[in-house]
Amino acid sequence: MLETNAIVDVRATVTQTRHIGRDVSIITLECPPIAAAAKPGNFVNIKVNGTTQPLLRRPFSIHNVHGIFIDIMVKSIGYGTTLFCDTTKGSTVMVLGPLGNSFNLTGQDFNTAILVSGGIGTAPMLFLEKTLTAKGKKVINLIGGRTKDELLPQELDNCLLATDDGSMGFSGNVVELLHSELPALKKEGSLKIFSCGPNPMLKALARFCRAHQLPCDLSLESVMGCGIGICYGCSVEINTPDGGTRTILLCREGPVIDAKLLVV
Ligand SMILES: Cc1cc2nc3c(=O)[nH]c(=O)nc-3n(C[C@H](O)[C@H](O)[C@H](O)COP(=O)(O)OP(=O)(O)OC[C@H]3O[C@@H](n4cnc5c(N)ncnc54)[C@H](O)[C@@H]3O)c2cc1C
Repeated sequence: MLETNAIVDVRATVTQTRHIGRDVSIITLECPPIAAAAKPGNFVNIKVNGTTQPLLRRPFSIHNVHGIFIDIMVKSIGYGTTLFCDTTKGSTVMVLGPLGNSFNLTGQDFNTAILVSGGIGTAPMLFLEKTLTAKGKKVINLIGGRTKDELLPQELDNCLLATDDGSMGFSGNVVELLHSELPALKKEGSLKIFSCGPNPMLKALARFCRAHQLPCDLSLESVMGCGIGICYGCSVEINTPDGGTRTILLCREGPVIDAKLLVV
């Protein structure tokens, strides 16, 4: 669903940076209007430095909101993210947001939220967990990574972990962990799944949720340019109710979609 936020483009001061892993940092930005308007699942588009290299902004989920601050959890995978990871306290960056739609926390009959994330897909889960908890929902996190060094459970509660190589927690991927835990999770009452992670993981999860008739929201990723629907860089095909497909711009009608809409 398309949401119209009070989008602003502000110069934000970096007030704290924390390295939480070999290539992952949490960057705190003083950003009052974005902190005030943000919803879980929203993202921001950040100009990571003041030069024309890189020219384009980079999109990041809102990891946490506290007072007038937002936190971004960033994994260094290329030029822009490495610059942003290495940013220092006191510097400033341009931040456009809040962008995109948000996880659907209303209109669903669920009392327990299962947050399924993989790799840097854990980034939006802290803000989501805090918001769900404030609404009186029980929250359980299922977190996956290739190895134990790639798990990012920091600050999250009720975590079950899975690693592809078996170096920590369940041995297998996070969708297989959900499969093995489902009988126990069902005892918690009515469930809704919320997820973010690599697209192959989201496709496997969408198939699983359809097979088990579990409501599920997925936050998708794509390469993205402007973040506001002008460059058409983030077009993604989704299913339509009549059995066809249509194209959406992930920055406008996403990044969150109902798992039923994912073309798998
Ligand atoms: C809605 C949304 C939310 C996101 N949230 C976060 C977040 O919270 N934390 C975080 O660390 N990252 C997040 N990302 C991904 C992040 O935006 C990319 O990692 C970043 O733009 C890469 O920039 P770069 O200059 O470092 O990489 P580049 O040097 O541009 O590219 C390096 C390599 O990564 C590939 N790549 C670039 N962007 C993406 C992408 N979006 N998905 C997959 N591969 C890509 C390129 O094709 C290339 O192979 C999000 C992306 C989207 C669309």
